[in-house]
Amino acid sequence: MLCPRDGEKLEVRMVEGVEIDACPKCEGTFLEPGELEAIEDAHHKHATGEPPEQPDIVESALDMARQTRRAGAICPKCQLQMTPREYAYTSQIVVDRCGGCGGAWLDVGELELIEDFFDRERAENGPTMLARLLQRMGLRQ
Ligand SMILES: [Zn+2]
Ligand SMILES: [Zn+2]
Repeated sequence: MLCPRDGEKLEVRMVEGVEIDACPKCEGTFLEPGELEAIEDAHHKHATGEPPEQPDIVESALDMARQTRRAGAICPKCQLQMTPREYAYTSQIVVDRCGGCGGAWLDVGELELIEDFFDRERAENGPTMLARLLQRMGLRQ
């Protein structure tokens, strides 16, 4: 399969023990149906329950994802136009989903954002991203 962003040949990579197709050039990833859920499951199993310790990385990834976010990608598997959709309610993470095969295209940084979203969802008393942002701006202790 070829990258819908730049036409590079996608290579197989292991993320959380799940094989996914990734672009070596732009670092985007194509996930077939069930693969994102499998990564989510694996992530839950070995996660510690603590919120992420490195919010700077998360926020720089978020900036990068916003900058690289473009029109819906063409599915590398079935060549259909994919539809940008919010990954989960309140996640604010938009991924391209294919209506044909159900696959998802994630631009660079978006997989990390989703993993961080899982962590924040699970850490019931952990600060939300908004709270962390307010803390950093000095608006909240
Ligand atoms: Zn690419
Ligand atoms: Zn497809």
